[in-house]
Amino acid sequence: MLTGRQVAGANGHQWTGNVDPPARAQGGTLHAKGGAYMSSMFDVAHDHGLRTGVVCGKWKFVLLEQSYGEDAGGPDTVTPDDGRDKIDLFLCDPEPQSQLEHVVTLLERSAAERRRSLVFWHIPSPDFAGHAKGWDLTAGSAYREAVVKADRAIATFLQRCDADPALKGSVAVVLTADHGGGVPFISHVDPEAPVNFTIPFVVWLGKDGAAEDLYTLNPTSRSRPGPSERFMPGAAPPIRNADAGNTALGLLGLPAIPGSSANAAQDLAVRAPASN
Ligand SMILES: [Zn+2]
Repeated sequence: MLTGRQVAGANGHQWTGNVDPPARAQGGTLHAKGGAYMSSMFDVAHDHGLRTGVVCGKWKFVLLEQSYGEDAGGPDTVTPDDGRDKIDLFLCDPEPQSQLEHVVTLLERSAAERRRSLVFWHIPSPDFAGHAKGWDLTAGSAYREAVVKADRAIATFLQRCDADPALKGSVAVVLTADHGGGVPFISHVDPEAPVNFTIPFVVWLGKDGAAEDLYTLNPTSRSRPGPSERFMPGAAPPIRNADAGNTALGLLGLPAIPGSSANAAQDLAVRAPASN
């Protein structure tokens, strides 16, 4: 999602670890794992002068700070030189309501400086509940309550943006997930189960309007997967969460992530062509 690369394959970032990474000096960077510098959406945004942030609730995301923070990022090739620290704010806080305060604060501070910004916000609570009590869709289940809580935080975030004249109409959201869950019931490790790999991918452009289906907007470059399909050799790819980074950069008018393959042409259309 953040490098525009898939995990495996010649162009993959190769990072399969799902726990706290080793220290930076012990190989705990995406670059060490992949054998080359792995650019991210944070590189492109920061090099173009944007303020960047990571607000997450799982410490394993320190991998991002170890890969792109302080002096770990690559040189800035876009003048002026904004330095090698590609992540201005790295913050770990598992509570969705306080996470949204951190995100809003970053956006408001940037807007006050007439700077644009790019934030990766990861809400961990639905995953915590799923692993603890199962991906249980019955009303009132721990999982449903965690999703409600996450949904409420996002709703509050959108309301806060709308209530601030400096943000209203100027904030876009690309909302997706890393996985579903439920096969087995308290996990998501079966790669053939559609409930595990079917995820939302929603782009909100900061204005009210009729919702449009991204597959309808992208009839030739993406194929809508069937309910039981995972791989469709030869067909256009489905919309993947890996498309997120380059989609976000495209919305900001910024180029694609160097070395990326997912939505590298930034051709995922997110709005209908203007009719006039
Ligand atoms: Zn999980």
